[in-house]
Amino acid sequence: MSAIDPRDVVARKRDGERLTEEEIRSVVLAYARGEVADYLASAFLMAAFIRGLDPEETVALTRAMVESGITLPLEGISRPKVDKHSTGGVADGVTLVFAPLAASLGLAVAKLSGRGLGHTGGTLDKLESIPGFRTDLSAEEMERQVDEVGCAVAAQTDDLVPADGALYALRDATATVPSVPLIAASVMSKKLAVGTDLILLDVKAGSGAFMKTVEEAEALAAACAELAAGWGRRARVVVTDMSQPLGDAVGNALDIAEAVEVLRGDRRGRLAELAAEFASAAQVVLLDLSEDEARARVERAIASGEAVETFGRMVEAQGGDPAVVDDPAKVLPAAPVVVPIEASEDGWLAQVEAEEIGRAAVGLGAGRARKGDAIDPATGIVFGAKIGDRIRRGSSLGEVHARTEEEARIAADRVVAALSVSEEEVEAPPLVYGWRDAQP
Ligand code: URA
Repeated sequence: MSAIDPRDVVARKRDGERLTEEEIRSVVLAYARGEVADYLASAFLMAAFIRGLDPEETVALTRAMVESGITLPLEGISRPKVDKHSTGGVADGVTLVFAPLAASLGLAVAKLSGRGLGHTGGTLDKLESIPGFRTDLSAEEMERQVDEVGCAVAAQTDDLVPADGALYALRDATATVPSVPLIAASVMSKKLAVGTDLILLDVKAGSGAFMKTVEEAEALAAACAELAAGWGRRARVVVTDMSQPLGDAVGNALDIAEAVEVLRGDRRGRLAELAAEFASAAQVVLLDLSEDEARARVERAIASGEAVETFGRMVEAQGGDPAVVDDPAKVLPAAPVVVPIEASEDGWLAQVEAEEIGRAAVGLGAGRARKGDAIDPATGIVFGAKIGDRIRRGSSLGEVHARTEEEARIAADRVVAALSVSEEEVEAPPLVYGWRDAQP
Protein backbone atom coordinates (compact mmCIF):
# COMPACT_ATOMS: atom_id res chain seq x y z
CA MET A 1 0.00 0.00 0.00
CA SER A 2 1.33 3.47 -0.88
CA ALA A 3 2.11 5.97 1.89
CA ILE A 4 0.20 8.64 -0.01
CA ASP A 5 -3.33 9.09 1.30
CA PRO A 6 -5.71 9.43 -1.67
CA ARG A 7 -7.89 11.82 0.33
CA ASP A 8 -4.97 14.27 0.52
CA VAL A 9 -4.51 14.01 -3.25
CA VAL A 10 -8.21 14.73 -3.81
CA ALA A 11 -8.09 17.66 -1.37
CA ARG A 12 -5.04 19.19 -3.10
CA LYS A 13 -6.68 18.97 -6.52
CA ARG A 14 -9.97 20.27 -5.08
CA ASP A 15 -8.05 23.34 -3.88
CA GLY A 16 -6.52 23.89 -7.30
CA GLU A 17 -3.02 22.68 -6.49
CA ARG A 18 -0.71 20.92 -8.90
CA LEU A 19 -0.30 17.19 -8.22
CA THR A 20 3.01 15.36 -8.39
CA GLU A 21 3.56 12.35 -10.66
CA GLU A 22 3.79 10.15 -7.55
CA GLU A 23 0.45 11.36 -6.20
CA ILE A 24 -1.39 10.74 -9.49
CA ARG A 25 0.30 7.38 -9.93
CA SER A 26 -0.61 6.22 -6.46
CA VAL A 27 -4.34 7.08 -6.80
CA VAL A 28 -4.69 5.62 -10.31
CA LEU A 29 -2.81 2.39 -9.64
CA ALA A 30 -4.49 1.85 -6.28
CA TYR A 31 -7.90 2.37 -7.90
CA ALA A 32 -7.05 -0.10 -10.67
CA ARG A 33 -6.08 -2.66 -7.99
CA GLY A 34 -9.39 -2.12 -6.21
CA GLU A 35 -7.77 -0.45 -3.19
CA VAL A 36 -9.47 2.93 -3.60
CA ALA A 37 -13.27 3.18 -3.29
CA ASP A 38 -15.41 4.39 -6.18
CA TYR A 39 -16.55 7.45 -4.20
CA LEU A 40 -12.98 8.61 -3.65
CA ALA A 41 -11.97 8.00 -7.26
CA SER A 42 -15.13 9.87 -8.35
CA ALA A 43 -14.13 12.82 -6.18
CA PHE A 44 -10.65 12.72 -7.74
CA LEU A 45 -12.15 12.74 -11.24
CA MET A 46 -14.53 15.59 -10.45
CA ALA A 47 -11.72 17.66 -8.90
CA ALA A 48 -9.57 17.01 -12.00
CA PHE A 49 -12.52 17.81 -14.24
CA ILE A 50 -13.22 21.16 -12.57
CA ARG A 51 -9.66 22.26 -11.77
CA GLY A 52 -8.05 20.75 -14.87
CA LEU A 53 -4.74 18.94 -15.23
CA ASP A 54 -1.70 20.69 -16.70
CA PRO A 55 0.47 18.97 -19.37
CA GLU A 56 2.79 17.35 -16.79
CA GLU A 57 -0.13 16.06 -14.76
CA THR A 58 -1.74 14.72 -17.94
CA VAL A 59 1.49 12.90 -18.82
CA ALA A 60 1.60 11.45 -15.30
CA LEU A 61 -2.01 10.26 -15.56
CA THR A 62 -1.37 8.68 -18.98
CA ARG A 63 1.81 6.99 -17.75
CA ALA A 64 0.03 5.55 -14.72
CA MET A 65 -2.79 4.23 -16.91
CA VAL A 66 -0.35 2.51 -19.32
CA GLU A 67 1.55 1.10 -16.34
CA SER A 68 -1.63 -0.39 -14.88
CA GLY A 69 -1.61 -3.28 -17.36
CA ILE A 70 0.19 -5.18 -20.08
CA THR A 71 1.40 -3.70 -23.37
CA LEU A 72 1.14 -5.18 -26.86
CA PRO A 73 4.46 -4.66 -28.67
CA LEU A 74 3.37 -6.37 -31.96
CA GLU A 75 7.02 -7.07 -32.71
CA GLY A 76 6.26 -10.04 -34.94
CA ILE A 77 4.60 -7.89 -37.62
CA SER A 78 6.90 -6.88 -40.45
CA ARG A 79 4.73 -4.39 -42.38
CA PRO A 80 4.61 -0.75 -41.23
CA LYS A 81 2.04 -0.64 -38.43
CA VAL A 82 -0.65 2.00 -38.14
CA ASP A 83 -3.34 2.47 -35.53
CA LYS A 84 -6.39 4.68 -36.02
CA HIS A 85 -8.77 5.94 -33.39
CA SER A 86 -11.79 8.21 -33.28
CA THR A 87 -12.97 10.03 -30.18
CA GLY A 88 -16.47 8.82 -31.04
CA GLY A 89 -19.39 9.96 -33.10
CA VAL A 90 -22.53 8.98 -34.97
CA ALA A 91 -22.39 6.91 -38.20
CA ASP A 92 -18.61 6.85 -37.84
CA GLY A 93 -17.77 3.68 -39.74
CA VAL A 94 -14.30 4.87 -40.78
CA THR A 95 -12.45 2.01 -39.09
CA LEU A 96 -14.54 -0.56 -40.99
CA VAL A 97 -13.33 0.96 -44.25
CA PHE A 98 -9.88 2.12 -43.19
CA ALA A 99 -8.56 -1.18 -41.77
CA PRO A 100 -8.99 -3.29 -44.94
CA LEU A 101 -8.17 -0.35 -47.20
CA ALA A 102 -4.86 0.36 -45.43
CA ALA A 103 -4.07 -3.38 -45.37
CA SER A 104 -4.64 -3.59 -49.11
CA LEU A 105 -2.10 -0.76 -49.49
CA GLY A 106 0.65 -2.75 -47.72
CA LEU A 107 0.19 -1.44 -44.18
CA ALA A 108 -0.60 -3.43 -41.03
CA VAL A 109 -3.62 -2.48 -38.94
CA ALA A 110 -3.93 -4.23 -35.57
CA LYS A 111 -6.91 -2.40 -34.20
CA LEU A 112 -8.27 -2.75 -30.71
CA SER A 113 -11.75 -1.32 -30.62
CA GLY A 114 -14.48 -0.65 -28.14
CA ARG A 115 -18.20 -1.14 -27.96
CA GLY A 116 -20.79 1.58 -28.39
CA LEU A 117 -21.74 3.51 -25.30
CA GLY A 118 -24.29 6.30 -24.99
CA HIS A 119 -25.20 7.80 -28.34
CA THR A 120 -21.98 6.68 -30.09
CA GLY A 121 -21.65 3.41 -31.97
CA GLY A 122 -18.87 0.85 -31.53
CA THR A 123 -16.88 -0.94 -34.21
CA LEU A 124 -17.00 -4.27 -32.36
CA ASP A 125 -20.80 -4.25 -32.20
CA LYS A 126 -20.98 -3.47 -35.91
CA LEU A 127 -18.58 -6.29 -36.87
CA GLU A 128 -20.36 -8.77 -34.61
CA SER A 129 -23.53 -8.22 -36.66
CA ILE A 130 -21.80 -10.42 -39.29
CA PRO A 131 -22.85 -13.96 -38.27
CA GLY A 132 -19.93 -15.87 -36.73
CA PHE A 133 -17.57 -12.88 -36.47
CA ARG A 134 -15.26 -13.19 -33.43
CA THR A 135 -13.71 -10.18 -31.73
CA ASP A 136 -12.10 -11.98 -28.77
CA LEU A 137 -8.73 -12.61 -30.42
CA SER A 138 -5.68 -13.42 -28.31
CA ALA A 139 -2.55 -11.33 -28.88
CA GLU A 140 -1.00 -14.26 -30.81
CA GLU A 141 -4.08 -14.72 -33.01
CA MET A 142 -4.13 -11.01 -33.72
CA GLU A 143 -0.45 -10.88 -34.74
CA ARG A 144 -0.80 -13.97 -36.94
CA GLN A 145 -3.86 -12.58 -38.69
CA VAL A 146 -2.29 -9.16 -39.25
CA ASP A 147 0.76 -10.85 -40.77
CA GLU A 148 -1.39 -12.94 -43.10
CA VAL A 149 -4.27 -10.59 -43.98
CA GLY A 150 -2.87 -7.16 -43.09
CA CYS A 151 -5.60 -6.25 -40.62
CA ALA A 152 -7.54 -7.44 -37.59
CA VAL A 153 -10.12 -5.68 -35.43
CA ALA A 154 -10.51 -7.13 -31.96
CA ALA A 155 -11.76 -6.28 -28.49
CA GLN A 156 -9.42 -4.62 -26.10
CA THR A 157 -8.69 -7.16 -23.37
CA ASP A 158 -9.20 -6.28 -19.73
CA ASP A 159 -5.48 -6.49 -19.00
CA LEU A 160 -4.53 -3.69 -21.44
CA VAL A 161 -4.80 -0.34 -19.62
CA PRO A 162 -7.21 -1.68 -16.97
CA ALA A 163 -7.12 1.68 -15.17
CA ASP A 164 -8.83 3.28 -18.17
CA GLY A 165 -11.54 0.63 -18.23
CA ALA A 166 -12.29 1.29 -14.58
CA LEU A 167 -11.98 5.08 -14.71
CA TYR A 168 -13.95 5.41 -17.95
CA ALA A 169 -16.92 3.52 -16.49
CA LEU A 170 -16.78 5.79 -13.45
CA ARG A 171 -16.55 8.92 -15.61
CA ASP A 172 -19.53 7.78 -17.63
CA ALA A 173 -21.51 7.44 -14.38
CA THR A 174 -20.34 10.73 -12.81
CA ALA A 175 -20.62 13.27 -15.67
CA THR A 176 -16.84 13.61 -15.96
CA VAL A 177 -16.31 12.43 -19.54
CA PRO A 178 -15.95 15.68 -21.54
CA SER A 179 -12.66 16.96 -20.08
CA VAL A 180 -9.68 17.53 -22.37
CA PRO A 181 -6.96 16.05 -20.11
CA LEU A 182 -9.13 13.11 -19.03
CA ILE A 183 -10.08 12.20 -22.60
CA ALA A 184 -6.52 12.75 -23.86
CA ALA A 185 -5.08 10.44 -21.18
CA SER A 186 -7.82 7.85 -21.78
CA VAL A 187 -7.45 7.75 -25.56
CA MET A 188 -3.67 8.01 -25.70
CA SER A 189 -2.95 5.48 -22.93
CA LYS A 190 -4.68 2.83 -25.08
CA LYS A 191 -2.77 3.88 -28.20
CA LEU A 192 0.59 4.13 -26.45
CA ALA A 193 0.20 0.65 -24.94
CA VAL A 194 0.23 -0.85 -28.45
CA GLY A 195 3.48 -0.87 -30.43
CA THR A 196 2.72 0.84 -33.76
CA ASP A 197 4.78 3.05 -36.08
CA LEU A 198 2.05 5.64 -36.49
CA ILE A 199 -1.03 6.67 -34.53
CA LEU A 200 -3.82 8.39 -36.47
CA LEU A 201 -6.29 10.18 -34.28
CA ASP A 202 -9.64 11.55 -35.39
CA VAL A 203 -10.90 14.16 -32.93
CA LYS A 204 -14.55 14.80 -33.63
CA ALA A 205 -16.15 18.23 -33.24
CA GLY A 206 -19.86 19.02 -33.26
CA SER A 207 -23.30 18.01 -32.09
CA GLY A 208 -22.59 14.27 -32.24
CA ALA A 209 -19.21 14.44 -30.45
CA PHE A 210 -18.00 14.88 -26.87
CA MET A 211 -16.30 18.08 -28.02
CA LYS A 212 -19.13 20.28 -29.26
CA THR A 213 -16.96 23.04 -30.77
CA VAL A 214 -13.96 23.03 -33.09
CA GLU A 215 -12.00 25.04 -30.48
CA GLU A 216 -12.53 22.37 -27.81
CA ALA A 217 -11.64 19.66 -30.32
CA GLU A 218 -8.45 21.55 -31.27
CA ALA A 219 -7.46 21.68 -27.60
CA LEU A 220 -7.98 17.91 -27.31
CA ALA A 221 -6.05 17.31 -30.55
CA ALA A 222 -3.15 19.40 -29.23
CA ALA A 223 -3.13 17.54 -25.90
CA CYS A 224 -3.10 14.14 -27.67
CA ALA A 225 -0.34 15.20 -30.08
CA GLU A 226 1.72 16.48 -27.17
CA LEU A 227 1.36 13.17 -25.33
CA ALA A 228 2.44 11.18 -28.40
CA ALA A 229 5.46 13.42 -29.01
CA GLY A 230 6.44 13.25 -25.34
CA TRP A 231 6.36 9.46 -25.63
CA GLY A 232 8.58 9.47 -28.69
CA ARG A 233 5.76 8.20 -30.91
CA ARG A 234 4.71 9.46 -34.33
CA ALA A 235 1.12 10.62 -34.53
CA ARG A 236 -1.06 12.58 -36.90
CA VAL A 237 -4.09 14.14 -35.27
CA VAL A 238 -6.99 15.64 -37.18
CA VAL A 239 -10.12 17.51 -36.15
CA THR A 240 -13.12 16.47 -38.26
CA ASP A 241 -16.76 17.40 -38.49
CA MET A 242 -19.34 15.66 -36.31
CA SER A 243 -22.06 18.30 -36.64
CA GLN A 244 -24.08 15.60 -38.41
CA PRO A 245 -23.81 11.82 -38.80
CA LEU A 246 -20.69 11.07 -40.85
CA GLY A 247 -22.07 8.28 -43.01
CA ASP A 248 -25.72 7.46 -43.48
CA ALA A 249 -26.06 4.30 -41.38
CA VAL A 250 -26.60 4.55 -37.61
CA GLY A 251 -26.82 0.99 -36.44
CA ASN A 252 -24.76 -2.17 -36.77
CA ALA A 253 -25.60 -4.44 -39.73
CA LEU A 254 -26.63 -1.27 -41.57
CA ASP A 255 -23.12 0.16 -41.09
CA ILE A 256 -21.51 -3.03 -42.38
CA ALA A 257 -23.61 -2.87 -45.54
CA GLU A 258 -22.61 0.77 -45.99
CA ALA A 259 -18.90 0.05 -45.41
CA VAL A 260 -19.00 -2.74 -48.02
CA GLU A 261 -20.51 -0.32 -50.54
CA VAL A 262 -17.77 2.21 -49.82
CA LEU A 263 -15.05 -0.44 -50.12
CA ARG A 264 -16.53 -1.58 -53.42
CA GLY A 265 -16.46 2.00 -54.72
CA ASP A 266 -20.24 2.04 -55.06
CA ARG A 267 -20.76 4.80 -52.52
CA ARG A 268 -19.07 8.22 -52.33
CA GLY A 269 -19.65 10.87 -49.70
CA ARG A 270 -18.17 11.99 -46.40
CA LEU A 271 -17.50 8.53 -44.94
CA ALA A 272 -15.63 7.40 -48.08
CA GLU A 273 -13.78 10.71 -48.19
CA LEU A 274 -12.62 10.50 -44.57
CA ALA A 275 -11.48 6.88 -44.88
CA ALA A 276 -9.46 7.88 -47.96
CA GLU A 277 -8.01 10.84 -46.05
CA PHE A 278 -6.75 8.51 -43.30
CA ALA A 279 -5.40 5.90 -45.71
CA SER A 280 -3.53 8.66 -47.55
CA ALA A 281 -2.20 10.25 -44.35
CA ALA A 282 -0.82 6.88 -43.24
CA GLN A 283 0.91 6.23 -46.54
CA VAL A 284 2.50 9.69 -46.65
CA VAL A 285 4.29 8.96 -43.36
CA LEU A 286 4.88 5.21 -43.51
CA LEU A 287 5.54 4.67 -47.22
CA ASP A 288 7.08 8.09 -47.84
CA LEU A 289 4.66 8.96 -50.65
CA SER A 290 3.38 12.33 -51.81
CA GLU A 291 -0.24 13.16 -51.00
CA ASP A 292 -1.14 12.71 -54.71
CA GLU A 293 0.57 9.33 -54.98
CA ALA A 294 -1.11 8.18 -51.77
CA ARG A 295 -4.56 9.27 -53.00
CA ALA A 296 -4.03 7.55 -56.37
CA ARG A 297 -3.15 4.28 -54.60
CA VAL A 298 -6.35 4.54 -52.52
CA GLU A 299 -8.44 4.99 -55.67
CA ARG A 300 -6.73 2.00 -57.30
CA ALA A 301 -7.18 -0.27 -54.27
CA ILE A 302 -10.91 0.43 -54.35
CA ALA A 303 -11.35 0.25 -58.13
CA SER A 304 -9.38 -3.01 -58.41
CA GLY A 305 -11.46 -4.72 -55.71
CA GLU A 306 -8.36 -5.24 -53.50
CA ALA A 307 -9.83 -3.22 -50.62
CA VAL A 308 -13.15 -5.06 -50.45
CA GLU A 309 -11.45 -8.45 -50.94
CA THR A 310 -9.20 -7.67 -47.97
CA PHE A 311 -12.32 -6.96 -45.90
CA GLY A 312 -13.67 -10.36 -46.94
CA ARG A 313 -10.39 -12.03 -45.90
CA MET A 314 -10.48 -10.28 -42.53
CA VAL A 315 -14.10 -11.36 -41.95
CA GLU A 316 -13.26 -14.96 -42.86
CA ALA A 317 -10.14 -15.02 -40.67
CA GLN A 318 -12.28 -13.90 -37.71
CA GLY A 319 -14.93 -16.58 -38.28
CA GLY A 320 -17.51 -14.49 -40.16
CA ASP A 321 -19.18 -15.25 -43.47
CA PRO A 322 -17.03 -13.66 -46.24
CA ALA A 323 -20.05 -13.66 -48.59
CA VAL A 324 -20.95 -10.42 -46.78
CA VAL A 325 -18.78 -8.57 -49.32
CA ASP A 326 -20.69 -10.03 -52.31
CA ASP A 327 -24.22 -9.84 -50.99
CA PRO A 328 -24.55 -8.10 -47.61
CA ALA A 329 -28.35 -8.41 -47.61
CA LYS A 330 -28.11 -12.21 -47.79
CA VAL A 331 -25.73 -12.51 -44.86
CA LEU A 332 -26.66 -9.69 -42.47
CA PRO A 333 -29.68 -9.71 -40.13
CA ALA A 334 -32.56 -7.50 -41.26
CA ALA A 335 -35.22 -5.74 -39.17
CA PRO A 336 -38.83 -6.72 -39.87
CA VAL A 337 -40.15 -3.15 -40.14
CA VAL A 338 -38.73 -0.43 -42.42
CA VAL A 339 -40.39 2.97 -42.31
CA PRO A 340 -39.40 6.07 -44.34
CA ILE A 341 -38.29 9.30 -42.68
CA GLU A 342 -39.99 12.20 -44.41
CA ALA A 343 -39.06 15.88 -44.37
CA SER A 344 -41.64 18.04 -42.62
CA GLU A 345 -40.57 21.33 -44.28
CA ASP A 346 -39.16 22.81 -47.47
CA GLY A 347 -35.75 24.45 -47.43
CA TRP A 348 -32.11 23.72 -46.83
CA LEU A 349 -30.95 21.38 -44.09
CA ALA A 350 -29.18 23.74 -41.69
CA GLN A 351 -28.54 21.79 -38.47
CA VAL A 352 -28.68 18.22 -37.26
CA GLU A 353 -28.70 17.18 -33.62
CA ALA A 354 -26.47 14.22 -34.36
CA GLU A 355 -26.46 13.07 -30.73
CA GLU A 356 -30.27 12.86 -30.79
CA ILE A 357 -30.15 10.71 -33.94
CA GLY A 358 -27.67 8.43 -32.15
CA ARG A 359 -30.04 8.27 -29.18
CA ALA A 360 -33.00 7.48 -31.43
CA ALA A 361 -30.98 4.52 -32.78
CA VAL A 362 -30.23 3.43 -29.19
CA GLY A 363 -34.01 3.58 -28.55
CA LEU A 364 -34.45 1.03 -31.36
CA GLY A 365 -32.01 -1.31 -29.62
CA ALA A 366 -29.06 -0.54 -31.93
CA GLY A 367 -26.97 0.82 -29.05
CA ARG A 368 -26.77 0.37 -25.33
CA ALA A 369 -27.91 2.65 -22.54
CA ARG A 370 -25.70 0.81 -20.03
CA LYS A 371 -22.41 -1.02 -20.34
CA GLY A 372 -23.13 -4.74 -20.78
CA ASP A 373 -26.61 -4.30 -22.32
CA ALA A 374 -27.33 -6.50 -25.34
CA ILE A 375 -27.84 -4.76 -28.68
CA ASP A 376 -30.04 -5.55 -31.65
CA PRO A 377 -27.74 -5.90 -34.69
CA ALA A 378 -30.50 -5.41 -37.26
CA THR A 379 -32.16 -2.19 -36.15
CA GLY A 380 -31.08 1.39 -36.71
CA ILE A 381 -31.48 4.45 -38.86
CA VAL A 382 -30.34 5.29 -42.36
CA PHE A 383 -30.27 9.07 -42.60
CA GLY A 384 -29.09 10.20 -46.02
CA ALA A 385 -29.51 13.99 -45.88
CA LYS A 386 -26.50 16.21 -45.16
CA ILE A 387 -26.25 19.84 -44.05
CA GLY A 388 -26.62 22.09 -47.11
CA ASP A 389 -28.95 19.69 -48.95
CA ARG A 390 -32.11 21.12 -50.50
CA ILE A 391 -35.02 19.22 -49.02
CA ARG A 392 -38.71 19.22 -49.84
CA ARG A 393 -41.65 18.58 -47.54
CA GLY A 394 -42.67 14.92 -47.78
CA SER A 395 -39.47 13.83 -49.54
CA SER A 396 -37.53 10.89 -48.14
CA LEU A 397 -34.57 11.63 -45.85
CA GLY A 398 -33.92 8.01 -45.01
CA GLU A 399 -35.39 5.00 -43.23
CA VAL A 400 -35.89 3.57 -39.78
CA HIS A 401 -35.24 -0.16 -39.38
CA ALA A 402 -37.15 -1.40 -36.34
CA ARG A 403 -38.77 -4.36 -34.60
CA THR A 404 -42.24 -2.77 -34.45
CA GLU A 405 -44.20 -0.08 -36.31
CA GLU A 406 -44.57 1.91 -33.11
CA GLU A 407 -40.85 1.94 -32.36
CA ALA A 408 -40.18 2.91 -35.97
CA ARG A 409 -42.61 5.86 -35.82
CA ILE A 410 -41.13 7.12 -32.54
CA ALA A 411 -37.62 7.03 -34.00
CA ALA A 412 -38.67 8.67 -37.29
CA ASP A 413 -40.34 11.51 -35.32
CA ARG A 414 -37.22 11.93 -33.19
CA VAL A 415 -35.04 12.23 -36.29
CA VAL A 416 -37.31 14.84 -37.89
CA ALA A 417 -37.42 16.81 -34.61
CA ALA A 418 -33.60 16.78 -34.52
CA LEU A 419 -33.37 18.77 -37.77
CA SER A 420 -33.42 22.51 -38.42
CA VAL A 421 -34.38 23.64 -41.89
CA SER A 422 -33.55 27.09 -43.23
CA GLU A 423 -35.39 29.05 -45.89
CA GLU A 424 -32.02 30.28 -47.10
CA GLU A 425 -29.31 28.34 -48.80
CA VAL A 426 -26.86 26.75 -46.33
CA GLU A 427 -23.24 25.84 -46.97
CA ALA A 428 -22.03 22.34 -46.13
CA PRO A 429 -19.56 22.38 -43.20
CA PRO A 430 -15.95 21.35 -43.91
CA LEU A 431 -15.22 17.66 -43.36
CA VAL A 432 -11.64 18.13 -42.18
CA TYR A 433 -10.55 21.11 -40.07
CA GLY A 434 -6.83 20.43 -40.11
CA TRP A 435 -4.06 18.01 -39.30
CA ARG A 436 -1.30 18.38 -36.75
CA ASP A 437 1.76 16.15 -36.63
CA ALA A 438 3.47 14.89 -33.51
CA GLN A 439 7.15 14.30 -34.15
CA PRO A 440 9.09 12.37 -31.56
N1 URA B 1 -12.94 7.77 -25.96
C1 URA B 1 -12.09 7.23 -25.07
O1 URA B 1 -11.46 6.22 -25.31
N2 URA B 1 -11.95 7.85 -23.89
C2 URA B 1 -12.60 8.99 -23.58
O2 URA B 1 -12.40 9.51 -22.50
C3 URA B 1 -13.50 9.53 -24.52
C4 URA B 1 -13.64 8.90 -25.73
